[in-house]
Amino acid sequence: MTTTLAGRDWLELTRPAAERVERLLAALTLEEKAGQLHLAGDLDADTSRAEIAAGRVGAGILSDGAHPDGTGRGSSLARTAAACQQVAREESRLGVPLLLGSDVVHGLRTTFPIPLGLASTWDPELVAACAASAAAEAGAEGLHLTFAPMVDLASEHRWGRIGETAGDEPLLASRMGAAAVAGFQRGGRFAAAAKHFCGYGLVQAERDHETLPVGPGALHNLHLRPFRAAHEAGVTAVMVGFHDVDGVPMHAHRSLVRDLLKDGWGFAGVVVSDWDGIGQLVHQGVAVDLRDAARQAILAGIDLDMASGAYRAHLPELVSSGAVDLALLDDAVRRVLRLKLRAGLLDPQGGSPPDPAAGAATPEATALARRVAASSTVLLKNSGVLPLHGNVGSVHLCGPFVEDAQALLGAWVPQPGQAGAGPTLADAAAERLGTGTLVVSDGRFSDLAVRRAETADLTVAVVGEHPSRSGEDRCLPTADLPVGQLELLQALAAVGKPVVVVVVTARPLDLRPVLRLADAVLLAWHPGGQAGPALADVLFGASAPTGRLPVNLPRMEPQGASGTFERTTGRRMGRSRDAKFGHYLNALGSPELSLGFGLTYTTFVHSGLELSRDVLPIRGGGAVRATVEVANTGARAGREVVQLYLRDLVADVVRPLLELCDWQAVELGPGESTKVTFRVTADAFAYWDRDLRRRVDPGEVELVVGPNAARGSSARLVIA
Ligand code: BGC
Repeated sequence: MTTTLAGRDWLELTRPAAERVERLLAALTLEEKAGQLHLAGDLDADTSRAEIAAGRVGAGILSDGAHPDGTGRGSSLARTAAACQQVAREESRLGVPLLLGSDVVHGLRTTFPIPLGLASTWDPELVAACAASAAAEAGAEGLHLTFAPMVDLASEHRWGRIGETAGDEPLLASRMGAAAVAGFQRGGRFAAAAKHFCGYGLVQAERDHETLPVGPGALHNLHLRPFRAAHEAGVTAVMVGFHDVDGVPMHAHRSLVRDLLKDGWGFAGVVVSDWDGIGQLVHQGVAVDLRDAARQAILAGIDLDMASGAYRAHLPELVSSGAVDLALLDDAVRRVLRLKLRAGLLDPQGGSPPDPAAGAATPEATALARRVAASSTVLLKNSGVLPLHGNVGSVHLCGPFVEDAQALLGAWVPQPGQAGAGPTLADAAAERLGTGTLVVSDGRFSDLAVRRAETADLTVAVVGEHPSRSGEDRCLPTADLPVGQLELLQALAAVGKPVVVVVVTARPLDLRPVLRLADAVLLAWHPGGQAGPALADVLFGASAPTGRLPVNLPRMEPQGASGTFERTTGRRMGRSRDAKFGHYLNALGSPELSLGFGLTYTTFVHSGLELSRDVLPIRGGGAVRATVEVANTGARAGREVVQLYLRDLVADVVRPLLELCDWQAVELGPGESTKVTFRVTADAFAYWDRDLRRRVDPGEVELVVGPNAARGSSARLVIA
């Protein structure tokens, strides 16, 4: 059906956008306005039909793609989307289409590495390309919005959701988050939602949705930074978290949501609740009932109510009784309508089914997934055994994931058994080695694995965590490998042949024992749908591992479950200012391997840090140039990530021992060298002081340039 323009002047494309929004707003009844603010959970055309037709649903989440006909998530999503839109367009009074969202976290039909893996590329352009590809596939299914990227700083390594983040470094998370936003929104229609505003990454292990130990200083100096970056990248939605900050749940946190994000920063997009987050205000004990929860949430600045039903049930009465100002309701509806307008939903053909063929997994997307998966692997140790050469002899490949491509997809992907996973690592390796030289054994049966290791020239063992071991509400008390895996590796190492260990995981694990016993260790995270071919590319040298750690790898000591990896300056623990570089230190010393660490198939030498001046003007934007020489001293071309850290020696509040300030990637051929120059202004040292004022202090500071946070050359200068 073609929507008629008669009486629906918001559909007239010749009118200015803002006017079209106002005309539709004016046409909505109070109930329909509240309906526009209702985002239905698990929307379905059959069960939600009456509600959609009554104008009581404005948006929906399509979260489960499982479909009995086994045709894959994509087609079932598209079918549900089209059926729901048809009801909205044809059966509701004003025919306003629905805004449809889903958790498209690291791909839809094409699955890229999990976000922590993407962050390991230290390559914002690659991250943006993956997001753009995912948005194209999602748009072709009829989706308009993804609940991603997650830009929380994950300070707890055993937190089940760390794999959904870009780690715990504010600059890395900011750049990766901004790149994802730019990629998702590249076409101008699809929307991203940065989540979970704000500070959610501070949850302690085993307390996924609880009170955060955070004050305003840490929020401003750390946790708000990636949200600010997402905002500056033009993010069109922000999701608030389930947690409370200092006793105030985020769904009722007026000063952070309305006052800071909306009024302070000027965020004009949509603030969406988390799943039933408004309803949770009752459980959190700050609202007497759902009506009170709706009142507090709309006052706080939450625009879109995901799944609780509080808004559509209570906002009309709250407004007519005067408990909530109509202007607040209108402001929220206006934001949602602007998002719909941006998505093309207020155009005459808005909400008509897109051509799903347009979003089919293309060979380009598959090639990108393979390339990014290889780029996200971090080589932690290599005695020279990698890359494997054609003359390697016979290879024994073992471990629980070598014949399970589904497990390597990671979380937030199509249901098991559906489309998305490419060849297994066993198949991809067989293609390279040919028959006769590859033996595969399931690592769970270590007796068999050991016998096969004895007959092969070398073993590649793939160990780590199945995606079901991490995720929401899936914190773990330790960072150890799953039971039995270390024993398997020990038995394999005892055979006396070289052992290469590939670790797949969504959390930084305690890999010290593995680093001790293996000849080479490759940290692959959950690499996505092209895991098999990409890992084969890296193992056999067609691609070099160029990933860098986006978090410290823990140096775990036997101690209590919480707080082991809390960020500390080091000074607090009595470390001297001149202590060995270590960006985030745990209470017991420096990490096992630091932020930014990663080997590759060649070697680089950094030399001669030179500063262009030794006094940096506090005002006026004058800059210092910090230059190092970087040489490829190995035998093959490679990529080096040159990192700049800064250290503020004395400040009004405790500052990190080192803070990432910038990085540059350089590609050099064997024997080549180049100069890498960073430009730094005094503003790089700005921070929020104890009165929450942003400032730069005069005085001595230090710049450190190197290949990771634990190694670098430093030079001091004075801000004056
Ligand atoms: C998660 C969000 C997610 C939402 C919708 C919640 O439980 O915290 O990150 O976007 O569900 O699936």
